[in-house]
Formats: sequence, structure tokens, C-alpha cells
Amino acid sequence: MDFSFLKRNKNSNASDSRPKKKIVTITKNVVDGIISYSKMHHPYEGILILEGERRKTEIHINNLVIPPFSVHGPFYSGFPINELPFDLKYIGTAHSHPSGSSQPSLEDLNHFYGLISIIISHPYEERDLRAFDSQGREVPLVKTE
Ligand SMILES: [Zn+2]
Repeated sequence: MDFSFLKRNKNSNASDSRPKKKIVTITKNVVDGIISYSKMHHPYEGILILEGERRKTEIHINNLVIPPFSVHGPFYSGFPINELPFDLKYIGTAHSHPSGSSQPSLEDLNHFYGLISIIISHPYEERDLRAFDSQGREVPLVKTE
């Protein structure tokens, strides 16, 4: 008798119990919105609030909100988080890096808001978008319709 199916079954269970990798999905409209907002504020940083939902291992971003009282500077953009209404739809922020750096700065990690931070570096094309978690680890970013 062939018991190899049992072995296969066991293996597939083992892989199921592994924690799944987090991914970020983002709609085309949101990508376009981040790109044009960043270009508009260049050479200053621009910052936006990301709206969406968490689906198990996936963080889905489907809307952008311009933060109230946002400030723009060449090295730091931010807004008073206390001024924001508490809203579960707010799952993170997106901001631009006019310097061209695609990595989160220490300042970015200290001011982390929500679950995910999207950074778009100059020259603000689609390939210049990156997503990071609160530890500064890059999370795969997938564009959807
Ligand atoms: Zn930054």
C-alpha cells in the first residue's frame, strides 16, 4: 500500500500553519492620486491618509484622504494625529520623498501611523512606490483595479 499521500498531506498542513506573508493591495486610482499629489508638492514632501481595510494577511487600500492641518517641508511632512477623527478605515499614510530615498527615515518610523506606510520617492513614477510596516520592513505592494 502506498502511504505517500499521508506524507504529502502532513507537509501541506505544516505549510498552512506557517504565518502568511503580509501584502498590500492598492487600487490604480489611489496610485495615480499619490503620484499627482507628490508631483504637485515637489520639492516639498506631501502626505496623505490611506483608507481601506484589513483582510487577514492583506491590507487593501482603496481611498485617499487629504489630512487636515497638514504641513509641508523639504525634509518632513506631518500632521497632528490627535486632530484626526478616530476612524477604522484609516489604515496608514503615504508620503513623498523629494530627496529620492526609497527607505523610511527614523522620523518616519517614529511618527508611524496605522498599519502601513507608503513612500514614493522622486521622480514619483509607479515604480517609485514602496510599502513598509511599522518596523520599517518592506511589504510587497500589488496594484489592483
Ligand atoms: Zn519620509
